[in-house]
Amino acid sequence: MDLQSQILTQIKKYQKIVIHRHQRPDPDAIGSQIGLAEILKASFPYKEIMVVGKQIDGFNWIGKMDEVDNDAFNDALVIVTDTANAPRIDDRRFDQGDQLIKIDHHPNDEPFGDIMWVSTMASSSSELIYDFYAQFKDQLELSQVAAHALLAGIIGDTGRFLYPATTPHTMQVAAHLMEAGADGAAIGQHENEITLPVARLSAYVYEHLTVLDHGAAYLVLTNEILRSFNLGDAGTAGIVSIPGRLKSVVSWVIFVQQDDDTYRVRMRSKGAAINEIAKLHDGGGHPLASGAKAKDEQEIKEIIAQLDQLTIDTAKGE
Ligand code: AMP
Repeated sequence: MDLQSQILTQIKKYQKIVIHRHQRPDPDAIGSQIGLAEILKASFPYKEIMVVGKQIDGFNWIGKMDEVDNDAFNDALVIVTDTANAPRIDDRRFDQGDQLIKIDHHPNDEPFGDIMWVSTMASSSSELIYDFYAQFKDQLELSQVAAHALLAGIIGDTGRFLYPATTPHTMQVAAHLMEAGADGAAIGQHENEITLPVARLSAYVYEHLTVLDHGAAYLVLTNEILRSFNLGDAGTAGIVSIPGRLKSVVSWVIFVQQDDDTYRVRMRSKGAAINEIAKLHDGGGHPLASGAKAKDEQEIKEIIAQLDQLTIDTAKGE
């Protein structure tokens, strides 16, 4: 039996299903979580389907979290979408259910769960959830709310179909989701909108980014700088992709200072795989979009040097 059939068998078996996603969610985390929940609600109306994790009001247009008590996990099936490793799962009760399933598109460096369906070829976890629905179309229902959530996830993780993970299949899935009632233009508008503080921080990024000779670029955002823009860590989501717009930049990293004075490291690349560098610094992720941690300025320097070396090696064709 393939993994998808095994997952459907488990879904049919359980009366209670709790769906989790990762901390600090993005549209794909919420979209894949809500999309799967709405497919299951429409397909199995007599089952109890719950979504958990921190309620993020900025994503209410995709869907809201449920308030779930501990008893809900008794004899429940737990499914975690879009989350590479167990420490990042939002709502730490994920291990309190009877069975645990992982559905994800990040490299499976830190496996967890009784069943794992991981496909790094997919643009997003939302694309995988659509593929799951499509495989069992005769048994599952795709509601308009589900379609909208899944398209939100795909549009989010592909940078509005800009990133190389966008395949012909991604576009076909997006078309099917729009046929099922997802409003592509409204989603694009939601995900394109920024606040005035983020707009002003964007100007700061363009002005202060350092670009090295071989196309590695970096910027350090201290708490002081973030405060001066009236922003916190969450506000940096809207500016991480900005350096990639520069022709001369091939790989980049933005260091975001945290309250404990360590730094969140947000790395991106147009070609060379940067997740190996992220793994050296308590992180990981996709080849072209990774995250890590830097404990101090010394580690920041090391990461910049490693990124610089990567762009030098890439330019030499190594
Ligand atoms: P971010 O810059 O936080 O949007 O992260 C980009 C990608 O890197 C995410 O989709 C995750 O796959 C991965 N990532 C971020 N932070 C970490 C971490 N601390 N450990 C492992 N992977 C991470």
